[in-house]
Amino acid sequence: MAKTVSHVVKRPGRRYGDADVDILVAEDLTTVPGIPMRENDVSFYSRVYPQETQNIEKAADREWVWTVYSEEMVEYRHYHDSVSKPLIDAAAVTGELEPVATPDPSVDVTSAIRTKARELGFGEVGFTQYDKRYTYTGKRRWIKYPHAICLALEQNYVQTQSLPSMDAEFAHFGTYEIEGALLLDLADYIRTLGYHAQVHSPNDNSAPYIPMFVSAGLGSLGANGQLLSPHFGSRARLAIITTDAPVNYDEPVDYGIHKFCQVCQVCVNRCPGRAIIRDKVWWRGAEKNKLIYERCRPVMARYEGCAVCMKTCPIQRFGMKEVMEHYVATGEVLGKGTHLLEGYTIEGKGYFGPGDLPMFDRAFFEIPHGRKEEWLFEQFKEKLMAEGVPSEPELKEFAQKVRGILVKGNSTIGDE
Ligand code: SF4
Ligand code: SF4
Repeated sequence: MAKTVSHVVKRPGRRYGDADVDILVAEDLTTVPGIPMRENDVSFYSRVYPQETQNIEKAADREWVWTVYSEEMVEYRHYHDSVSKPLIDAAAVTGELEPVATPDPSVDVTSAIRTKARELGFGEVGFTQYDKRYTYTGKRRWIKYPHAICLALEQNYVQTQSLPSMDAEFAHFGTYEIEGALLLDLADYIRTLGYHAQVHSPNDNSAPYIPMFVSAGLGSLGANGQLLSPHFGSRARLAIITTDAPVNYDEPVDYGIHKFCQVCQVCVNRCPGRAIIRDKVWWRGAEKNKLIYERCRPVMARYEGCAVCMKTCPIQRFGMKEVMEHYVATGEVLGKGTHLLEGYTIEGKGYFGPGDLPMFDRAFFEIPHGRKEEWLFEQFKEKLMAEGVPSEPELKEFAQKVRGILVKGNSTIGDE
């Protein structure tokens, strides 16, 4: 059934120089600009339960994944890590670099930075306050400048449609490698305008970036936990540069996605790990679909990053303009129920079309939890219960392992 249009969102074209596009938003999908938030709750959870990066909080399973990766994945990840390391190291010190010119007050820096970023190839560029409430505890002293330039680089379309696959992983990690280098170039440019620029590497995030991208009007949070950007949905690979350049902030936009996801539900239905909660809940001040990490991670690790929730999202596949036009014209979700959108192949298990899901037994989902030392203590307790008090050499070995982790730290940087 056709829908009434509430409003039209105008966005820049997909590539630099492309014409603007109009996205229709149906009346029955409207909620609020961005997503529903309770600002007091965001502040409360940030203060009382600050977040730390999964690279640290989930370090035990991030180490475990290497034991179940395919040989090809192990080889490729080592390659990717070797490419990313110098980019991460270079980004880490960018906040210390001084501008190389004196600011010219007659220059519109917002427009200059946006244009330069689009020329470099970023598909989405927006400006907002860097919201410190989301900063990971280990990065709180690192952040130097108040304004966030939100930048999204498109991951290759064709390779993405083949996931789960190594080819899609090449696109995924390859995009981050390109993005890491482009960010350094853009920061250099901002310094030539007379301002500081600190690069937040996409492989060493300072915070969950999606809330700031939503504030900057660059998309909406999808049920799959990813930013759904207008042109390429969740193929947007996200990074931030913070700066003291006097930029003008963008505004959040109601794309209709918050409600559309509850109509669509394709990623929820197609997730092989049944990891996405169907109904939205309030979580740390935002209304969203929660993802169960422990149901997702074992699938991701064993099946080339999985990301079926990305592949089966119609916004990723067809773009927001086409999906929303189809919804307004028919009241239906473009591609829902088709093999084209919903079908995928899991290596060793076969093809799964609409309505079919692979089965995994309970042991499949048993993975190490928490930080590395927490997981060691967990194993120690189990051994104690099963075999009694360990021998002195065993106790010494255990103590050495714990000490090694505490001295070295948990960080598994690069495993985004
Ligand atoms: S990555 Fe795979 S297992 Fe994880 S939420 Fe997405 S579809 Fe589900
Ligand atoms: S698949 Fe549907 S429900 Fe899931 S994120 Fe995309 S639009 Fe939302």
